[in-house]
Amino acid sequence: MFFDMNTMDRTASIRQYDVCIAGSGPAGITLARVLAKEGKSVAILEGGGLEYSENSQNLYQARNTGANIWDAASACRLRYFGGTSNHWTGRCSFFDAIDFQQRDYFGMPGWPAGSREEIFKHFKAACAIVDLPKNAFKVSHKYQWQGPNYRYSDVSLSPPTRFASKYLDELKSSEKIDVFINANLTDIQLFEGLDAVKALEITNYKGGVFYFSAKNYVLALGAIENARLLLNSDKQIRGGVGNQYDMVGRCFMEHFNVNYGRFVIEDKAMWKEGSIELNPTDNLMQKMHIGNAVLKFHLNYQAPEYGKLPELKKAAREFVCRSETLTELTRKMVDIDCSGDGVITSLIEQSPNLKSRIILDTEKDQFGLRRVILNWNINDADNRTIRVLGREVAKEMARTKVARVHLKDYILDDKIKIGEYGHHCHQMGTTRMSENPKFGVVDKNQRVHGIHNLFTAGSSVFPTGGGCNPTLTIVMMSLRLGKHIASVTPL
Ligand SMILES: Cc1cc2nc3c(=O)[nH]c(=O)nc-3n(C[C@H](O)[C@H](O)[C@H](O)COP(=O)(O)OP(=O)(O)OC[C@H]3O[C@@H](n4cnc5c(N)ncnc54)[C@H](O)[C@@H]3O)c2cc1C
Repeated sequence: MFFDMNTMDRTASIRQYDVCIAGSGPAGITLARVLAKEGKSVAILEGGGLEYSENSQNLYQARNTGANIWDAASACRLRYFGGTSNHWTGRCSFFDAIDFQQRDYFGMPGWPAGSREEIFKHFKAACAIVDLPKNAFKVSHKYQWQGPNYRYSDVSLSPPTRFASKYLDELKSSEKIDVFINANLTDIQLFEGLDAVKALEITNYKGGVFYFSAKNYVLALGAIENARLLLNSDKQIRGGVGNQYDMVGRCFMEHFNVNYGRFVIEDKAMWKEGSIELNPTDNLMQKMHIGNAVLKFHLNYQAPEYGKLPELKKAAREFVCRSETLTELTRKMVDIDCSGDGVITSLIEQSPNLKSRIILDTEKDQFGLRRVILNWNINDADNRTIRVLGREVAKEMARTKVARVHLKDYILDDKIKIGEYGHHCHQMGTTRMSENPKFGVVDKNQRVHGIHNLFTAGSSVFPTGGGCNPTLTIVMMSLRLGKHIASVTPL
């Protein structure tokens, strides 16, 4: 069944569900479908409508401190049915075995034992959900990479799957699932013992307030909002729900997109198949104490124009780039890219860092919830990962005579500040998994420590972020979470 909370009678009685899920992105929708298949009754509570609206999107407005170059907290996410999958790009990848190992140099515990095996049980089903082709991740390269420190990345492309258009009809006609739109989660109410959720407070845009109760509850609101709702729900517990060790919102992680510089190809056979993507090997990561990553070598890059007077800038750039001597001379003063250059971009793992965190602002939204301040903090371990990856790949390319790499000065010299830490809109870590509640918010089954019927879903639970796009893993973990919740929800 399908309900619009904006038109719902305030006195309407709401049935009790087996599971209430707040949020209808890839995590929430995947979870609801598994639970329904397992015979459970489910309410999906989605804060937005079926389309984008300023009203809903405005609730995501946040302040950024720390290293942001643009408004990561407000700009990345979409707040309506289907969530951020309404504009994701569809690049799919997965965590490597080493990502699940304890890496002491990160200074925080990693994934709980056994996570990898449990998550990857759902690999095939997750690939089908995001419509990956049958031969996904089986691309063979004609040219074999020779180096000990890098290997080809495992990547496949989803069409990209829009969860709203793919699954709305199925959800609407499901006998087990009720979908509520314009249903904003505004508070989590606990029983007196403070160890279980009693109800979710849901508010529509007309000020109507409703209470949903269930045997189990899941927050699937994305990494920033999962933390925000737990922190805001502090009427009964100081500091918010699940925050007894001040861990909610900490260890916010993104994937860095740092510009490494340019390259000129040498071994033409290597580049016949076009641009290439490389991951560091376990050997390099362990030896150098660095995180995982993808370094993308784009061939024939089209230099973009930013800011004012783009046409004039384009003409000046084209003039300079026509002559090699003029290009070299200009680059001594300003670092310009020319169309046709090879350019190296990246997706780099950030270490879990207690200072990189979400806290609440004093400013409130229309429902009285305090807004978010995102302090994206980047530490020495991160800078080390960024620089080592660049220096080592340049050496390896030179040694194998595949390309000549011209690295940016901030990669070569530790004393020069890294200019721009781009990001990928991969928000992770704010309700991280840890068996020990001192280092995390949820246990290995994604259950909030201390609250026996509350779970969080999505990349907020990732204790480390790997060198891969997160959504395929979010889907695998939601399938796993659905099976787990079904097994602990009595009929
Ligand atoms: C431009 C862009 C490109 C991307 N490309 C890729 C890619 O190529 N590959 C990849 O793996 N990932 C990509 N991502 C990331 C991907 O979109 C996310 O990993 C994914 O959408 C997360 O799913 P989710 O369900 O956890 O959260 P979301 O998709 O963010 O869904 C959260 C849901 O919660 C709802 N909600 C929020 N607050 C409330 C509330 N208080 N009450 C009720 N409902 C609420 C929202 O409306 C939304 O429907 C991209 C992201 C962006 C922005």
